[in-house]
Amino acid sequence: MTVTRFAPSPNGPLHLGHAFSAIVAHDRAKRDHGLFLLRIEDIDGARSRPELAQDFRADLAWLGLDFREVPPQSERIGRYRAAADLLRDKGLLYPCSCTRAEIAAAAHVSGPDGPIYPGTCRVYGPKPGADVAWRLDMNRAVELAGPLEWTDERRGPQMARPGLFGDVVLWRKDAPASYHLAATLDDAADGVTHVTRGVDLFNASHVHRLLQHLLGLPVPVWHHHPVLVDAGGRKLAKRRDAPALADRRRAGEDGLAIAAAVRTARFDTGISLSDALDQQA
Ligand code: GLU
Repeated sequence: MTVTRFAPSPNGPLHLGHAFSAIVAHDRAKRDHGLFLLRIEDIDGARSRPELAQDFRADLAWLGLDFREVPPQSERIGRYRAAADLLRDKGLLYPCSCTRAEIAAAAHVSGPDGPIYPGTCRVYGPKPGADVAWRLDMNRAVELAGPLEWTDERRGPQMARPGLFGDVVLWRKDAPASYHLAATLDDAADGVTHVTRGVDLFNASHVHRLLQHLLGLPVPVWHHHPVLVDAGGRKLAKRRDAPALADRRRAGEDGLAIAAAVRTARFDTGISLSDALDQQA
């Protein structure tokens, strides 16, 4: 059965861009009489606002989307820990005490997520007593895995290029796990067959494909959809002017009409769809 998901982080209200993403995932599942899941990605301690989850549920219902909710990430930390332990036992993780500023000063190459970690702690070890994150030793992991392929429904077959990101953090200093580890494990645990999300996260799928291999997880199909951009070509962002769905809902706007406009890509002036890979957040 086709299973898709919408996996918002509760660090700000949902806006039209999220509505589009949720509708794409929902409609993709329903096309096959499948299941559409809602997963709250709430492990981002400092930025997470748990009270928003209730709004998210109400927003999806208001848009007319029929969903089943699976446990939030905050209830799955034991699984993340077990997976990190497994990778550590394989010698694929190393502790890193570098701060953002240290990395910015030492990094010379930029990847899809910013500066590529230059590997300082892989070579010299972390500073004694400092808090550490755990990074994937990318060269080792890629060597162990060999060539890997994955498929995007819209862009076709892809060779995995996880090396684009360098030694990614799989366990953060300030939060359990990291987006890459948690999302990959959850999609497998939730039985997601089609990972549906914005094209701005296309490159992350290279890393997720590698993690699936290393952790013995099933390999889904991906569906990276275009993202909504403003008149300046920038992805709609919670922090900028995209009105919150919750505000529109409370103001009595018709959610079904908004969903219909999103489905036919009829947006307010200035908003359009973009398939460009590099979207500024
Ligand atoms: N929590 C992520 C976000 O809100 C979801 C990314 C994904 O769908 O994999 O951007």
